[in-house]
Amino acid sequence: MISEANPKGFHSKNKHPRSLIPNGLWAEFFRGDRLACARLITAVENHPAIGPEVRDHVIPRLNGAFRIGITGPPGVGKSTVTAALARRAAQHDQTVGIIAVDPSSPFTGGAFLGDRVRMEALSGDDRIFIRSLASRGGHGGLSPATPLVADVLDAFGLSRIFIETVGVGQAELDVLGCVDLLILVLQPGTGDGIQALKAGILEAADMFLINKADLPGTETLLESLRFLFEISARPAAGGVPPILAASALRDEGLDAVYTEMEKRTQALLTSGKYHQKRRALMESEIRDTIRRILWDRFAALTGAGEKIPAAAERFIANHKSPYPYIRRLCAQVKIQHRTKRTGRE
Ligand code: GDP
Repeated sequence: MISEANPKGFHSKNKHPRSLIPNGLWAEFFRGDRLACARLITAVENHPAIGPEVRDHVIPRLNGAFRIGITGPPGVGKSTVTAALARRAAQHDQTVGIIAVDPSSPFTGGAFLGDRVRMEALSGDDRIFIRSLASRGGHGGLSPATPLVADVLDAFGLSRIFIETVGVGQAELDVLGCVDLLILVLQPGTGDGIQALKAGILEAADMFLINKADLPGTETLLESLRFLFEISARPAAGGVPPILAASALRDEGLDAVYTEMEKRTQALLTSGKYHQKRRALMESEIRDTIRRILWDRFAALTGAGEKIPAAAERFIANHKSPYPYIRRLCAQVKIQHRTKRTGRE
């Protein structure tokens, strides 16, 4: 088992000397063992520090899976829609992963038993790998491990990865930055609710799905969405996105949603957007990692991490600029750096 307390059996001669990945797990994973995949995801989820090691292993084995984000307010039917689309993808010979980062999702066990039973029917299908991620840090369903878990599923050989999350805050928007296609699910009777959604989500979504079209109010919501796009600046940016209606409960209208989804994913490939996205993500990974390493080093040398809150408090109380303090901290690092290199100050 993966345990920090018991380092026996861990890799000893690799470039990640303190690996938390048990010996042999990668081999089992690349052989297609679902249990190994599940264990790896657990390790990724519980130990953010193994990120670089996991990236080292998975990057050469990525197969170019599409990541499809399914977001929207709680209760609109995201899980039901995800299950319906996943089933269709499997029928079209795709291998499918579902990552549920929505705490209210039946996948994560938060909803009524009836839903859960229906979802579990999918898990009997060995073309569909379902995984829920615990929400972390009070971000309403976000798990920071999501993009890396998607990588793991991609390297595992899955070709369509659905990421289901509640689209409420900035944090979710950040995670959704890792998806190739974002479907925003709404339900009738929530016309006013559109205003309550984060503007960012409306702009980021590539497709809109009004689920529960079996309920009254579908036309009204369709019209208000169309109106919203007419008056917004979005058409200039990316054109009006498709707005579809379906009833996931009755399994009606989902074929059209699936077809549109596939059409859009293929367009991402031919337009080069898929590649551009990978490059942008890789760039920010490099920058963010270096920034973090440098900051950690800086904080260790100066003790700035602990001092900054009190310093900020002081500058505000005394109406003082922080820049002399910043310069002093930086000078301190320069002196230490020089002393280390020359042996004298
Ligand atoms: P989520 O919280 O957005 O993931 O929503 P769920 O998929 O858990 O669905 C919430 C509730 O809406 C469940 O009771 C579903 O059975 C129900 N539901 C889902 N799709 C439809 C639909 O198309 N029509 C109707 N009337 N109910 C639906």
